[in-house]
Amino acid sequence: MSLGLIFLFIVILLFGILGLFYINRLSNEGRLVLQNNHESLVYCNRMLQSLENIRIHKDAVDTFRENLRKQQGNITEVGEKEFTDELTRNFNELLADPSDSSNYSDIRRSIYRIQDLNEMAIFRKNAVAQQTAENARNLLTVIFTILTLVAFTFIFNLPGIISDPIRRLSEGILAIANKNYKKRIYLKQEDEFGDLANAFNIMAGKLDEYESSNLAKIKFEKSRIETIINQMRDGIIGLDEKRNILFLNAVSEKLLGLRDADITGKYAPDIALTNDLVRTLLQDDPAKKELKIFADNKESYFSKDVLNVTDNETVIGQVIVLRNITPFHELNEAKTNFIATVSHELKTPISSIKMSAVLLTDERVGELNSEQQELIRSITDDADRLLRITGELLNMSQVETGNIQLKLQPADPASIVTQAIQAVQFQAQQRQITIQSHLTDGLPFIQADVEKTAWVLINFLTNAIKYSPEESLVEITVARKDKKIEFIVRDHGRGIDEKYLPRIFDRYFKVPGTHDRNGTGLGLSISKEFIEAQGGTIWVDSRIGEGSQFGFTFAAG
Ligand code: ADP
Repeated sequence: MSLGLIFLFIVILLFGILGLFYINRLSNEGRLVLQNNHESLVYCNRMLQSLENIRIHKDAVDTFRENLRKQQGNITEVGEKEFTDELTRNFNELLADPSDSSNYSDIRRSIYRIQDLNEMAIFRKNAVAQQTAENARNLLTVIFTILTLVAFTFIFNLPGIISDPIRRLSEGILAIANKNYKKRIYLKQEDEFGDLANAFNIMAGKLDEYESSNLAKIKFEKSRIETIINQMRDGIIGLDEKRNILFLNAVSEKLLGLRDADITGKYAPDIALTNDLVRTLLQDDPAKKELKIFADNKESYFSKDVLNVTDNETVIGQVIVLRNITPFHELNEAKTNFIATVSHELKTPISSIKMSAVLLTDERVGELNSEQQELIRSITDDADRLLRITGELLNMSQVETGNIQLKLQPADPASIVTQAIQAVQFQAQQRQITIQSHLTDGLPFIQADVEKTAWVLINFLTNAIKYSPEESLVEITVARKDKKIEFIVRDHGRGIDEKYLPRIFDRYFKVPGTHDRNGTGLGLSISKEFIEAQGGTIWVDSRIGEGSQFGFTFAAG
């Protein structure tokens, strides 16, 4: 750039100097022509005019003399001096003898000679001036042509010279912005652009170094986490926010019968089309939290946990954890079997204790005093309680092992209600609680296991009696609801806090603060299993201080 500007400056200077030089020269030449020759012609003309008037006017001699003197002072051409001297001589002769007419013609001849000489000089000088002008024009035309060529070269090349490195530099900066730290710029220029390109390359080199060291660190951390995940005994499956599979660890590879390398990056629902287990894992079904999986030639139990991976409260993926719960499952099974065996074994002796106690009250066996009668009543009560508990435990073990034996048959809802009321009548009387039943007329039969349905109703009624104040009212209603038959037991007891309602049907759950020592927390959970096994639905509605409603519905007929 600087070189270009200096060149332009020199060219302008040269052009100016040359122009001035030629203009000066031409004007000097013009001025000389005017001064030297034109003036001589003017003097000559005046002298010729005075010569014509010399005989008439006396002043004409003075005018002639005056112009002759001026001509004598303006001798510029070769030979002009001789002709002027000749003229002076002839004029002096004329002044000496004005009557000699030959003098007139001599003077005229001399003047004409001087005129010719000056005219010739004017023509010659004009030719020289024209030559000078021609030279100037030629020289300036050559310079102009060269300058035009140079200017064109500049016009075409200068933008490229400036914009090319800028374009390459901005490409480099864009590449760095896109994290391409391998980008370098090579400019073979030793100017500011070259320096800039060097500085850019140094910066890119440093960024590249930093990136590589960071990358190595991240890679190391990644492989460490992968090793940990792979060595875990639980199956782990990672999904991204679009449900594409990110990774599978070794355990889940075995369980799913798939290889990590084959399915990584694939859309999980597509894999689910051909893999039942993947389909089950992707379903958000709380009932399918425990899975029985056959892998490695054995049956194992897994619990499924789906964890959302979040970044600033945005879900960016999911991790499905399959925890192997086979040992717990086996322990639970052993416990259930143990409970089933124990309660089954206990049932017969407890029944015979109860039977013996009842027999003892028979007068044929012998008279009992009131204290003995009281003891026997207490034995019977405890035996009843034990029988109820062992019954519940047996039911629960049946439920847990999935061995519920249903005897489904068309049943009259009214007879189930009557059976249930009879079973709890004695308890109700003891607490002076009235049981009212509201049965809609003409109820259709339902398809149900009478014994188990009555058992559920008894459980509802027992609870209602237990958790209601004395002398209160318990209502049992059976009515049509849509195409279903609905059984409801309603009490006016203390009610249940809303926050415990979702857990009320859980096994062993008792509302905190319940002072019933005899309760096992199993009744409602068994009820739920019994009703659902028959295709019904169970529900609760309760408010603290307003009493509770427990109910279930069956399809009619
Ligand atoms: P339990 O044998 O302890 O009665 P249930 O499964 O039948 O076991 O009941 C679970 C818990 O639900 C009880 O411990 C009690 O706290 C609460 N409950 C059940 N029915 C009622 C009711 N009608 N009113 C108030 N609380 C109730």
